[in-house]
Amino acid sequence: MAERPTLTQWVTDLRAGKVSSCELVRASLARIEASQARLNAFVTVTADEAMAQAEAADRDLAAGRGGPLAGVPIAHKDLFCTAGVRTTCGSRMLENFVAPYDATVVARLRAAGAVMLGKLNMDEFAMGSSNETSHFGPVRNPWNTDRVPGGSSGGSAAAVAAGLVSAATATDTGGSIRQPASFCGVTGIKPTYGRVSRYGMIAFASSLDQGGVIAASAEDCARVLGVMAGFDPRDSTSVDVAVPDYLDALDAPLAGIRIGVLREFFDPGLDARYERCVRDALALFERLGARLREVSLPNIPRSVPAYYVVAPAECSSNLARYDGVRFGHRCREPRDLEDLYKRSRSEGFGAEVKRRIMTGTYVLSAGYYDAYYLKAQRVRRLITADFERAFGAVDLLMGPTTPTTAFALGAKSADPVTMYLNDIYTISANLAGLPAMSVPCGFVEGLPAGLQIIGPHFAEQRLLHAAHRYQLETDWHRRVPERCP
Ligand code: GLN
Repeated sequence: MAERPTLTQWVTDLRAGKVSSCELVRASLARIEASQARLNAFVTVTADEAMAQAEAADRDLAAGRGGPLAGVPIAHKDLFCTAGVRTTCGSRMLENFVAPYDATVVARLRAAGAVMLGKLNMDEFAMGSSNETSHFGPVRNPWNTDRVPGGSSGGSAAAVAAGLVSAATATDTGGSIRQPASFCGVTGIKPTYGRVSRYGMIAFASSLDQGGVIAASAEDCARVLGVMAGFDPRDSTSVDVAVPDYLDALDAPLAGIRIGVLREFFDPGLDARYERCVRDALALFERLGARLREVSLPNIPRSVPAYYVVAPAECSSNLARYDGVRFGHRCREPRDLEDLYKRSRSEGFGAEVKRRIMTGTYVLSAGYYDAYYLKAQRVRRLITADFERAFGAVDLLMGPTTPTTAFALGAKSADPVTMYLNDIYTISANLAGLPAMSVPCGFVEGLPAGLQIIGPHFAEQRLLHAAHRYQLETDWHRRVPERCP
Protein backbone atom coordinates (compact mmCIF):
# COMPACT_ATOMS: atom_id res chain seq x y z
CA MET A 1 0.00 0.00 0.00
CA ALA A 2 1.23 3.50 -0.79
CA GLU A 3 1.94 6.05 1.93
CA ARG A 4 0.09 9.29 2.43
CA PRO A 5 2.04 12.56 2.42
CA THR A 6 1.59 14.42 5.69
CA LEU A 7 0.91 18.09 6.28
CA THR A 8 4.02 18.17 8.47
CA GLN A 9 6.10 16.94 5.53
CA TRP A 10 4.58 19.56 3.25
CA VAL A 11 5.24 22.35 5.75
CA THR A 12 8.89 21.24 5.92
CA ASP A 13 9.26 20.89 2.14
CA LEU A 14 7.64 24.27 1.48
CA ARG A 15 9.97 25.97 3.94
CA ALA A 16 12.99 24.24 2.43
CA GLY A 17 11.90 25.36 -1.05
CA LYS A 18 11.70 21.73 -2.21
CA VAL A 19 8.21 22.29 -3.50
CA SER A 20 6.07 25.36 -4.11
CA SER A 21 2.55 26.00 -2.89
CA CYS A 22 1.46 26.47 -6.51
CA GLU A 23 2.70 22.96 -7.33
CA LEU A 24 0.97 21.43 -4.32
CA VAL A 25 -2.29 23.25 -4.94
CA ARG A 26 -2.31 22.46 -8.65
CA ALA A 27 -1.75 18.77 -7.92
CA SER A 28 -4.45 18.78 -5.24
CA LEU A 29 -6.95 20.46 -7.56
CA ALA A 30 -6.23 17.83 -10.21
CA ARG A 31 -6.83 15.06 -7.67
CA ILE A 32 -10.06 16.68 -6.54
CA GLU A 33 -11.29 16.88 -10.11
CA ALA A 34 -10.34 13.28 -10.80
CA SER A 35 -12.04 12.05 -7.61
CA GLN A 36 -15.22 14.10 -7.60
CA ALA A 37 -17.46 11.76 -9.64
CA ARG A 38 -16.39 8.80 -7.51
CA LEU A 39 -16.24 10.33 -4.01
CA ASN A 40 -18.31 13.55 -4.15
CA ALA A 41 -16.25 14.96 -1.25
CA PHE A 42 -16.59 18.61 -2.33
CA VAL A 43 -19.66 20.82 -2.66
CA THR A 44 -17.69 23.79 -4.00
CA VAL A 45 -14.16 23.98 -5.39
CA THR A 46 -12.51 27.41 -5.36
CA ALA A 47 -9.71 26.77 -7.85
CA ASP A 48 -8.97 30.35 -8.93
CA GLU A 49 -8.94 31.76 -5.40
CA ALA A 50 -6.76 28.84 -4.31
CA MET A 51 -4.19 29.49 -7.04
CA ALA A 52 -4.09 33.18 -6.10
CA GLN A 53 -3.58 32.28 -2.44
CA ALA A 54 -0.87 29.79 -3.38
CA GLU A 55 1.00 32.45 -5.36
CA ALA A 56 0.81 34.79 -2.38
CA ALA A 57 2.05 32.02 -0.08
CA ASP A 58 4.98 31.30 -2.40
CA ARG A 59 5.93 34.99 -2.34
CA ASP A 60 5.76 35.00 1.46
CA LEU A 61 7.80 31.83 1.74
CA ALA A 62 10.44 33.15 -0.66
CA ALA A 63 10.74 36.27 1.49
CA GLY A 64 11.16 34.18 4.63
CA ARG A 65 7.74 35.26 5.87
CA GLY A 66 4.51 33.31 6.02
CA GLY A 67 2.54 31.78 8.86
CA PRO A 68 2.90 28.28 10.29
CA LEU A 69 0.73 26.74 7.55
CA ALA A 70 1.94 28.91 4.65
CA GLY A 71 1.09 27.31 1.32
CA VAL A 72 -0.54 24.14 2.61
CA PRO A 73 -3.75 23.01 0.83
CA ILE A 74 -6.75 22.53 3.11
CA ALA A 75 -10.54 22.67 2.81
CA HIS A 76 -13.42 23.55 5.10
CA LYS A 77 -16.50 21.62 6.08
CA ASP A 78 -19.33 23.48 4.38
CA LEU A 79 -20.75 24.90 7.60
CA PHE A 80 -17.89 27.29 8.29
CA CYS A 81 -18.86 30.62 6.80
CA THR A 82 -16.50 31.84 4.09
CA ALA A 83 -16.80 35.43 2.87
CA GLY A 84 -17.78 35.48 -0.80
CA VAL A 85 -17.90 31.67 -1.17
CA ARG A 86 -21.23 29.93 -0.61
CA THR A 87 -21.81 27.99 2.61
CA THR A 88 -24.53 25.42 2.09
CA CYS A 89 -24.45 23.32 5.27
CA GLY A 90 -25.34 20.42 2.98
CA SER A 91 -28.86 21.80 2.65
CA ARG A 92 -31.16 23.03 -0.06
CA MET A 93 -32.12 25.72 2.46
CA LEU A 94 -28.69 27.34 2.12
CA GLU A 95 -27.89 26.21 -1.41
CA ASN A 96 -27.20 29.78 -2.50
CA PHE A 97 -26.19 31.35 0.81
CA VAL A 98 -23.06 33.48 0.65
CA ALA A 99 -21.90 34.72 4.03
CA PRO A 100 -20.61 38.27 4.24
CA TYR A 101 -17.84 37.26 6.66
CA ASP A 102 -15.39 34.49 7.54
CA ALA A 103 -15.86 32.18 10.53
CA THR A 104 -13.10 32.73 13.11
CA VAL A 105 -11.65 29.31 12.27
CA VAL A 106 -11.52 30.21 8.58
CA ALA A 107 -9.95 33.60 9.30
CA ARG A 108 -7.30 32.08 11.56
CA LEU A 109 -6.31 29.39 9.10
CA ARG A 110 -6.16 31.95 6.31
CA ALA A 111 -3.97 34.23 8.44
CA ALA A 112 -1.66 31.25 9.10
CA GLY A 113 -1.16 30.94 5.34
CA ALA A 114 -3.25 27.82 4.67
CA VAL A 115 -4.72 27.73 1.16
CA MET A 116 -8.44 26.90 0.96
CA LEU A 117 -9.33 24.64 -1.98
CA GLY A 118 -13.06 24.63 -1.36
CA LYS A 119 -15.97 23.50 0.79
CA LEU A 120 -16.56 19.92 1.82
CA ASN A 121 -19.72 17.88 1.61
CA MET A 122 -21.50 16.95 4.84
CA ASP A 123 -24.77 15.66 6.25
CA GLU A 124 -27.51 18.30 6.08
CA PHE A 125 -27.01 20.74 8.98
CA ALA A 126 -24.51 18.18 10.39
CA MET A 127 -27.34 15.78 11.23
CA GLY A 128 -26.31 12.27 10.33
CA SER A 129 -23.71 9.55 10.66
CA SER A 130 -23.27 8.55 7.04
CA ASN A 131 -23.22 11.68 4.89
CA GLU A 132 -26.35 10.38 3.17
CA THR A 133 -28.56 13.28 4.30
CA SER A 134 -26.65 15.83 2.19
CA HIS A 135 -28.70 17.72 -0.39
CA PHE A 136 -25.65 17.36 -2.66
CA GLY A 137 -25.68 13.57 -2.60
CA PRO A 138 -23.72 11.14 -0.46
CA VAL A 139 -19.96 11.09 -0.11
CA ARG A 140 -18.37 7.69 -0.69
CA ASN A 141 -15.69 6.03 1.37
CA PRO A 142 -12.34 6.04 -0.49
CA TRP A 143 -11.53 2.59 0.94
CA ASN A 144 -14.62 1.08 -0.64
CA THR A 145 -17.05 3.23 -2.55
CA ASP A 146 -20.00 0.99 -1.66
CA ARG A 147 -19.50 2.11 1.93
CA VAL A 148 -20.36 5.38 3.66
CA PRO A 149 -17.52 7.63 4.83
CA GLY A 150 -19.33 8.33 8.12
CA GLY A 151 -20.86 11.64 9.05
CA SER A 152 -21.54 14.35 9.40
CA SER A 153 -17.99 15.41 8.37
CA GLY A 154 -17.89 12.74 5.66
CA GLY A 155 -16.44 15.06 3.03
CA SER A 156 -13.65 16.14 5.38
CA ALA A 157 -12.65 12.57 6.27
CA ALA A 158 -12.88 11.28 2.68
CA ALA A 159 -10.88 14.22 1.32
CA VAL A 160 -8.02 13.61 3.75
CA ALA A 161 -8.15 9.83 3.29
CA ALA A 162 -7.95 10.20 -0.49
CA GLY A 163 -5.09 12.70 -0.22
CA LEU A 164 -7.12 15.52 -1.82
CA VAL A 165 -6.09 17.96 0.93
CA SER A 166 -3.58 17.73 3.76
CA ALA A 167 -6.12 18.64 6.44
CA ALA A 168 -9.76 19.60 6.72
CA THR A 169 -11.84 21.42 9.25
CA ALA A 170 -14.76 19.51 10.72
CA THR A 171 -17.28 19.74 13.55
CA ASP A 172 -18.43 17.28 16.16
CA THR A 173 -21.79 17.53 17.93
CA GLY A 174 -22.16 13.85 18.73
CA GLY A 175 -19.24 12.22 16.95
CA SER A 176 -19.04 13.88 13.54
CA ILE A 177 -15.26 14.27 13.59
CA ARG A 178 -14.33 10.97 15.22
CA GLN A 179 -16.78 8.62 13.51
CA PRO A 180 -15.90 9.63 9.91
CA ALA A 181 -12.19 9.77 10.83
CA SER A 182 -12.49 6.20 12.06
CA PHE A 183 -14.45 5.02 8.98
CA CYS A 184 -11.90 6.58 6.61
CA GLY A 185 -8.67 5.63 8.41
CA VAL A 186 -7.60 9.16 9.30
CA THR A 187 -6.95 11.06 12.53
CA GLY A 188 -9.48 13.50 13.97
CA ILE A 189 -9.71 15.56 17.11
CA LYS A 190 -12.74 17.19 18.70
CA PRO A 191 -11.38 19.67 21.24
CA THR A 192 -12.90 20.65 24.58
CA TYR A 193 -16.19 22.57 24.24
CA GLY A 194 -15.15 26.24 24.16
CA ARG A 195 -11.60 25.60 22.89
CA VAL A 196 -12.33 26.53 19.27
CA SER A 197 -14.56 29.47 18.37
CA ARG A 198 -18.04 28.72 17.05
CA TYR A 199 -18.33 32.20 15.51
CA GLY A 200 -19.39 31.75 11.90
CA MET A 201 -19.97 28.03 12.35
CA ILE A 202 -23.59 27.30 11.41
CA ALA A 203 -25.31 26.07 14.57
CA PHE A 204 -26.89 22.65 15.01
CA ALA A 205 -26.93 22.09 18.80
CA SER A 206 -25.07 24.98 20.38
CA SER A 207 -24.20 23.36 23.71
CA LEU A 208 -22.61 20.39 21.92
CA ASP A 209 -21.15 21.73 18.64
CA GLN A 210 -17.39 22.04 18.54
CA GLY A 211 -15.04 22.64 15.62
CA GLY A 212 -11.92 20.58 15.15
CA VAL A 213 -9.69 19.02 12.54
CA ILE A 214 -9.23 15.87 10.51
CA ALA A 215 -5.74 15.15 9.15
CA ALA A 216 -3.42 12.27 8.39
CA SER A 217 -1.70 12.13 11.79
CA ALA A 218 -1.81 13.42 15.35
CA GLU A 219 1.17 15.65 14.58
CA ASP A 220 -0.69 17.17 11.64
CA CYS A 221 -3.77 17.68 13.84
CA ALA A 222 -1.56 19.40 16.44
CA ARG A 223 -0.27 21.86 13.84
CA VAL A 224 -3.72 22.80 12.62
CA LEU A 225 -5.44 22.84 16.01
CA GLY A 226 -2.74 25.18 17.36
CA VAL A 227 -3.86 27.73 14.76
CA MET A 228 -7.62 27.17 15.17
CA ALA A 229 -7.80 27.17 18.97
CA GLY A 230 -8.02 30.09 21.35
CA PHE A 231 -10.31 32.64 22.91
CA ASP A 232 -12.66 34.59 20.68
CA PRO A 233 -14.66 37.47 22.13
CA ARG A 234 -17.24 36.91 19.37
CA ASP A 235 -18.23 33.51 20.78
CA SER A 236 -19.74 33.85 24.25
CA THR A 237 -18.94 30.21 25.10
CA SER A 238 -15.32 30.46 23.98
CA VAL A 239 -13.03 29.91 26.95
CA ASP A 240 -10.15 32.21 27.77
CA VAL A 241 -7.52 29.57 28.51
CA ALA A 242 -4.05 29.91 26.98
CA VAL A 243 -3.35 27.58 24.04
CA PRO A 244 -0.23 25.50 24.68
CA ASP A 245 2.16 24.69 21.85
CA TYR A 246 0.61 21.38 20.82
CA LEU A 247 3.81 20.34 19.05
CA ASP A 248 5.82 20.76 22.21
CA ALA A 249 6.93 17.51 23.88
CA LEU A 250 4.95 15.43 21.38
CA ASP A 251 7.85 12.93 21.36
CA ALA A 252 8.20 12.66 25.16
CA PRO A 253 7.95 9.12 26.55
CA LEU A 254 4.56 7.89 27.72
CA ALA A 255 5.90 6.00 30.74
CA GLY A 256 3.62 6.14 33.74
CA ILE A 257 0.54 7.49 31.95
CA ARG A 258 -2.64 5.96 33.39
CA ILE A 259 -5.13 4.76 30.81
CA GLY A 260 -8.66 3.75 31.69
CA VAL A 261 -10.24 1.15 29.43
CA LEU A 262 -13.90 2.04 29.17
CA ARG A 263 -15.86 -1.09 30.07
CA GLU A 264 -19.18 0.17 28.66
CA PHE A 265 -17.60 0.64 25.22
CA PHE A 266 -16.86 -3.08 24.95
CA ASP A 267 -20.51 -4.07 24.77
CA PRO A 268 -22.17 -6.85 22.76
CA GLY A 269 -22.72 -4.41 19.87
CA LEU A 270 -18.97 -4.15 19.26
CA ASP A 271 -17.73 -6.20 16.30
CA ALA A 272 -15.27 -8.80 17.66
CA ARG A 273 -12.69 -8.15 14.93
CA TYR A 274 -12.86 -4.41 15.58
CA GLU A 275 -12.40 -5.14 19.28
CA ARG A 276 -9.22 -7.11 18.43
CA CYS A 277 -7.72 -4.02 16.74
CA VAL A 278 -8.53 -1.86 19.78
CA ARG A 279 -7.18 -4.43 22.27
CA ASP A 280 -3.94 -4.68 20.25
CA ALA A 281 -3.60 -0.89 20.39
CA LEU A 282 -4.13 -0.94 24.16
CA ALA A 283 -1.46 -3.65 24.50
CA LEU A 284 0.94 -1.44 22.54
CA PHE A 285 0.30 1.45 24.94
CA GLU A 286 1.13 -0.91 27.78
CA ARG A 287 4.43 -1.81 26.12
CA LEU A 288 5.12 1.93 25.80
CA GLY A 289 4.93 2.24 29.57
CA ALA A 290 1.26 3.10 30.13
CA ARG A 291 -0.60 1.56 33.05
CA LEU A 292 -3.98 0.17 32.03
CA ARG A 293 -7.00 -0.42 34.20
CA GLU A 294 -10.65 -1.04 33.47
CA VAL A 295 -12.97 1.85 34.26
CA SER A 296 -16.75 1.74 34.42
CA LEU A 297 -18.94 4.76 33.68
CA PRO A 298 -22.39 3.41 34.58
CA ASN A 299 -24.43 6.23 33.01
CA ILE A 300 -22.78 6.00 29.58
CA PRO A 301 -25.48 3.68 28.15
CA ARG A 302 -27.95 6.54 28.67
CA SER A 303 -26.01 8.92 26.45
CA VAL A 304 -27.77 8.14 23.14
CA PRO A 305 -31.32 8.78 24.47
CA ALA A 306 -30.17 11.90 26.34
CA TYR A 307 -28.41 13.25 23.24
CA TYR A 308 -31.39 12.57 20.99
CA VAL A 309 -33.49 14.80 23.24
CA VAL A 310 -30.98 17.61 23.86
CA ALA A 311 -29.62 17.87 20.30
CA PRO A 312 -33.03 18.00 18.55
CA ALA A 313 -34.29 20.47 21.18
CA GLU A 314 -31.44 22.84 20.44
CA CYS A 315 -31.70 22.28 16.70
CA SER A 316 -35.42 23.07 16.66
CA SER A 317 -34.59 26.40 18.24
CA ASN A 318 -31.49 27.15 16.11
CA LEU A 319 -33.18 26.26 12.85
CA ALA A 320 -36.18 28.51 13.55
CA ARG A 321 -34.18 31.30 11.91
CA TYR A 322 -34.64 29.73 8.46
CA ASP A 323 -38.05 31.20 7.81
CA GLY A 324 -37.80 32.21 4.17
CA VAL A 325 -37.51 35.85 5.19
CA ARG A 326 -33.92 36.45 6.22
CA PHE A 327 -31.78 33.48 5.21
CA GLY A 328 -31.80 30.90 2.52
CA HIS A 329 -34.50 29.30 0.48
CA ARG A 330 -37.76 31.15 -0.13
CA CYS A 331 -40.74 29.47 -1.76
CA ARG A 332 -42.22 30.96 -4.93
CA GLU A 333 -45.22 33.24 -4.77
CA PRO A 334 -46.28 32.82 -1.14
CA ARG A 335 -49.97 33.51 -0.51
CA ASP A 336 -49.34 35.06 2.90
CA LEU A 337 -46.77 35.05 5.69
CA GLU A 338 -47.78 31.68 7.07
CA ASP A 339 -47.62 30.10 3.64
CA LEU A 340 -44.16 31.64 3.18
CA TYR A 341 -42.91 30.05 6.42
CA LYS A 342 -44.49 26.70 5.77
CA ARG A 343 -43.53 26.19 2.18
CA SER A 344 -40.03 27.68 2.49
CA ARG A 345 -39.23 25.31 5.34
CA SER A 346 -40.96 22.30 3.78
CA GLU A 347 -39.04 22.76 0.56
CA GLY A 348 -35.72 23.81 2.10
CA PHE A 349 -35.19 21.08 4.69
CA GLY A 350 -34.68 17.37 4.09
CA ALA A 351 -36.36 14.51 5.95
CA GLU A 352 -33.80 14.01 8.73
CA VAL A 353 -33.70 17.71 9.59
CA LYS A 354 -37.50 17.80 9.73
CA ARG A 355 -37.53 14.75 11.99
CA ARG A 356 -35.14 16.48 14.39
CA ILE A 357 -37.09 19.73 14.38
CA MET A 358 -40.31 17.89 15.16
CA THR A 359 -38.72 15.81 17.93
CA GLY A 360 -37.10 18.92 19.38
CA THR A 361 -40.29 20.96 19.30
CA TYR A 362 -42.12 18.11 20.98
CA VAL A 363 -39.66 17.66 23.86
CA LEU A 364 -39.64 21.40 24.50
CA SER A 365 -43.40 21.81 24.45
CA ALA A 366 -45.22 22.77 27.66
CA GLY A 367 -46.53 19.36 28.70
CA TYR A 368 -43.33 17.45 27.92
CA TYR A 369 -40.49 19.77 28.87
CA ASP A 370 -39.98 18.29 32.35
CA ALA A 371 -40.45 14.69 31.27
CA TYR A 372 -38.00 14.82 28.36
CA TYR A 373 -35.83 17.90 28.14
CA LEU A 374 -35.17 18.43 31.84
CA LYS A 375 -34.72 14.72 32.41
CA ALA A 376 -32.18 14.55 29.57
CA GLN A 377 -30.27 17.46 31.10
CA ARG A 378 -30.15 15.57 34.41
CA VAL A 379 -28.80 12.48 32.67
CA ARG A 380 -26.24 14.70 31.00
CA ARG A 381 -25.10 15.88 34.42
CA LEU A 382 -24.76 12.27 35.62
CA ILE A 383 -22.63 11.38 32.60
CA THR A 384 -20.38 14.37 33.23
CA ALA A 385 -20.02 13.32 36.88
CA ASP A 386 -19.06 9.79 35.77
CA PHE A 387 -16.24 11.23 33.67
CA GLU A 388 -15.10 13.55 36.47
CA ARG A 389 -14.81 10.57 38.81
CA ALA A 390 -12.90 8.57 36.22
CA PHE A 391 -10.41 11.36 35.59
CA GLY A 392 -9.64 11.40 39.31
CA ALA A 393 -7.92 8.04 38.77
CA VAL A 394 -6.74 7.95 35.15
CA ASP A 395 -5.18 10.42 32.69
CA LEU A 396 -6.96 9.24 29.56
CA LEU A 397 -9.83 6.94 28.66
CA MET A 398 -9.70 4.65 25.64
CA GLY A 399 -12.03 2.42 23.67
CA PRO A 400 -13.35 1.93 20.15
CA THR A 401 -14.66 4.93 18.19
CA THR A 402 -17.55 3.05 16.60
CA PRO A 403 -19.15 -0.41 17.01
CA THR A 404 -18.29 -1.49 13.44
CA THR A 405 -16.30 -0.34 10.44
CA ALA A 406 -18.00 1.65 7.67
CA PHE A 407 -21.38 0.24 6.71
CA ALA A 408 -22.87 0.01 3.22
CA LEU A 409 -24.63 2.98 1.65
CA GLY A 410 -28.36 2.65 2.30
CA ALA A 411 -27.88 0.02 5.04
CA LYS A 412 -29.19 2.19 7.86
CA SER A 413 -30.97 5.06 6.17
CA ALA A 414 -34.44 3.53 6.48
CA ASP A 415 -34.22 3.18 10.25
CA PRO A 416 -33.18 6.30 12.18
CA VAL A 417 -32.69 4.47 15.49
CA THR A 418 -30.18 2.03 13.97
CA MET A 419 -28.39 5.02 12.49
CA TYR A 420 -28.40 6.86 15.83
CA LEU A 421 -26.92 3.84 17.62
CA ASN A 422 -23.81 4.20 15.50
CA ASP A 423 -22.88 7.15 17.73
CA ILE A 424 -23.09 5.12 20.92
CA TYR A 425 -19.39 5.50 21.81
CA THR A 426 -18.89 9.10 20.68
CA ILE A 427 -21.84 11.03 22.10
CA SER A 428 -20.86 10.96 25.78
CA ALA A 429 -17.77 13.13 25.21
CA ASN A 430 -19.99 15.83 23.68
CA LEU A 431 -22.51 15.68 26.50
CA ALA A 432 -19.63 16.24 28.94
CA GLY A 433 -17.80 18.76 26.70
CA LEU A 434 -14.59 16.68 26.76
CA PRO A 435 -11.82 16.56 24.16
CA ALA A 436 -11.75 13.28 22.22
CA MET A 437 -10.03 11.90 19.18
CA SER A 438 -9.99 8.95 16.84
CA VAL A 439 -6.78 7.34 15.67
CA PRO A 440 -6.50 4.59 13.03
CA CYS A 441 -5.72 1.27 14.76
CA GLY A 442 -6.14 -1.48 12.19
CA PHE A 443 -8.34 -2.90 9.47
CA VAL A 444 -11.24 -5.32 9.34
CA GLU A 445 -11.70 -6.79 5.86
CA GLY A 446 -9.96 -3.84 4.25
CA LEU A 447 -11.89 -1.17 6.17
CA PRO A 448 -10.26 1.02 8.84
CA ALA A 449 -10.97 0.77 12.58
CA GLY A 450 -10.47 3.63 15.04
CA LEU A 451 -9.18 3.87 18.59
CA GLN A 452 -10.95 6.56 20.57
CA ILE A 453 -9.04 8.58 23.19
CA ILE A 454 -10.94 10.83 25.62
CA GLY A 455 -9.34 13.25 28.09
CA PRO A 456 -10.31 15.73 30.77
CA HIS A 457 -11.24 19.30 29.81
CA PHE A 458 -8.44 21.14 27.97
CA ALA A 459 -6.19 18.06 27.84
CA GLU A 460 -5.88 18.20 24.03
CA GLN A 461 -2.10 18.12 24.35
CA ARG A 462 -2.24 14.89 26.35
CA LEU A 463 -4.47 13.27 23.72
CA LEU A 464 -2.25 14.37 20.86
CA HIS A 465 0.85 13.21 22.69
CA ALA A 466 -0.54 9.71 23.32
CA ALA A 467 -1.80 9.47 19.74
CA HIS A 468 1.52 10.64 18.32
CA ARG A 469 3.52 8.13 20.35
CA TYR A 470 1.20 5.40 19.12
CA GLN A 471 1.66 6.58 15.53
CA LEU A 472 5.44 6.48 15.88
CA GLU A 473 5.06 2.74 16.49
CA THR A 474 2.38 1.94 13.92
CA ASP A 475 1.68 2.67 10.27
CA TRP A 476 -2.11 2.34 10.11
CA HIS A 477 -2.43 6.11 9.69
CA ARG A 478 0.01 6.14 6.75
CA ARG A 479 -1.84 3.64 4.61
CA VAL A 480 -3.86 4.96 1.71
CA PRO A 481 -6.64 3.38 -0.29
CA GLU A 482 -5.47 1.78 -3.52
CA ARG A 483 -7.36 3.89 -6.03
CA CYS A 484 -6.53 7.36 -4.86
CA PRO A 485 -8.22 9.28 -6.28
N1 GLN B 1 -24.49 11.55 14.14
C1 GLN B 1 -24.89 12.47 15.16
C2 GLN B 1 -26.18 13.14 14.75
O1 GLN B 1 -26.70 12.80 13.76
C3 GLN B 1 -23.81 13.47 15.41
C4 GLN B 1 -23.73 14.53 14.39
C5 GLN B 1 -22.64 15.51 14.65
O2 GLN B 1 -21.73 15.27 15.46
N2 GLN B 1 -22.73 16.65 14.00
O3 GLN B 1 -26.67 13.99 15.41
